[in-house]
Amino acid sequence: MILYNSATRKREEFVPNHPDIVKMYTCGPTVYHFAHIGNLRSYIMEDILDRYLRYSGYNLKRVMNITDVGHLTSDADEGEDKMLKGAKREHKTVMEIAKFYTEAFFDDCKKLNIRTPDVVEPATNCIDDYIKIISRLMDTGYAYFAGGNVYFDTSKLEKYYVFNDFNEEDLAVGVREGVEEDPNKRSKNDFVLWFTKSKFEDQALKWDSPWGVGYPGWHIECSGISMKHLGEDLDIHCGGIDNAFPHHTNEIAQSESYLGHKWCNYWMHVLHLNTNDGKMSKSKGEFLTVSLLEEKGYDPLAYRLFCLQSHYRKSLVFSWENLDNAQTTYNKLIAKIAALKPGEGEIEQEAVDALRARFKAALDNDLNTSLAVTCLYDVLKYKTNDATKLFVLGDFDSVLSLSLLEKADKKREELKKQAVTAGQFTIVSESGESDPAVEAKIMARQDAKKARNFAEADRIRDELKAAGIEVTDIPHGARWKRI
Ligand code: AMP
Ligand code: ZN
Repeated sequence: MILYNSATRKREEFVPNHPDIVKMYTCGPTVYHFAHIGNLRSYIMEDILDRYLRYSGYNLKRVMNITDVGHLTSDADEGEDKMLKGAKREHKTVMEIAKFYTEAFFDDCKKLNIRTPDVVEPATNCIDDYIKIISRLMDTGYAYFAGGNVYFDTSKLEKYYVFNDFNEEDLAVGVREGVEEDPNKRSKNDFVLWFTKSKFEDQALKWDSPWGVGYPGWHIECSGISMKHLGEDLDIHCGGIDNAFPHHTNEIAQSESYLGHKWCNYWMHVLHLNTNDGKMSKSKGEFLTVSLLEEKGYDPLAYRLFCLQSHYRKSLVFSWENLDNAQTTYNKLIAKIAALKPGEGEIEQEAVDALRARFKAALDNDLNTSLAVTCLYDVLKYKTNDATKLFVLGDFDSVLSLSLLEKADKKREELKKQAVTAGQFTIVSESGESDPAVEAKIMARQDAKKARNFAEADRIRDELKAAGIEVTDIPHGARWKRI
């Protein structure tokens, strides 16, 4: 499998550190508000990596944090804790906010068929782990105490690692204009490991530490949680592109200084979902959530398909028109699968192997999900029986997770019910659409056939053809399509 590694800026063969396990870490959500569909793009694409590694036979252990403390309004450790801001906004406690939005996040994930990682760890559970790391960094001279806070000293590093193959705008998040420089820092890139002093004295959650009562910085969370559950090395670390700097850069700095060796081999960054007028955010413009998509009548899985139709390393523009197109494509795909007959024929292994080889080639190529989606159409067109097609579609969907077979079963049930109401005569369109005018003509043709008025039946068929509709007889019904 080839993966693009943003640490080396190269496409590389994926080789795990250990033969028996692949260790993957994902930066989780900051639970001060609902996730927007941009955040969820990152989690969908990471879910594909998770599922594809398992599909390829790896024994994956995946860990994700829940940021419930320490993430300040600027990623560069300035401003107020986002959690506290959320709590004030809603007149609740920080812990109430964390619980509510953690649950909301997993509800959204469920609707989007995003697997829950093997370990989900709230940052507030691991204070002792951060203290252990920070203590050693202090002992070894990688950290210093100034003005009440503990800082990581980036000048002690041979190389302060920066993922610098992305454009300035993407990396600029951490150094927003209007944010005051912290005078305690020895150099600009130094970052906070432990706060006891901040301008916002009403920080709700605080713990005792060798440096005084306070709370951890955001970056130390991910190093601490990863090491707690995955040990001293990591195969793959994922996150959205805005996390590359300063968050991941700082994670590498503190983890490798603490461990004294290389920490993580592969870094996967998902590019942003943007709107026509720029980056999506929780604080500006229309707040696009999964619930909003549902309210507007979209299936959340149509959004998942929309994400899969483009590559994770390209930024993606969201518009309602684009989502409409994805919903139409999704409906047609389900209708086509519903037209297959379960249990028809024996599974043909040769066909399975040939189709799987194409699918694997697509995903082995740095997760080319859009090509993997077109493999679904290859299955539908392939010269093999319906049982084989359904088997392969189910197999591919264990990675793509678009609920294809479940939705097709439902559609088949609906069609059966319609057949009963239409006197055992089923009218289906190949695209999945329904058009009452066309359906009425097909019924009239059926009535003419029943009355043995074949001239009239042929006339209706010709009339439909002239209108661009082709009708094919199927057992107990008719199928039509636009030509
Ligand atoms: P947060 O909840 O802000 O900590 O972010 C959760 C995840 O969403 C992180 O991996 C971010 O990098 C990612 N993210 C933030 N904004 C976007 C966006 N517009 N498109 C894709 N991913 C994003
Ligand atoms: Zn992180």
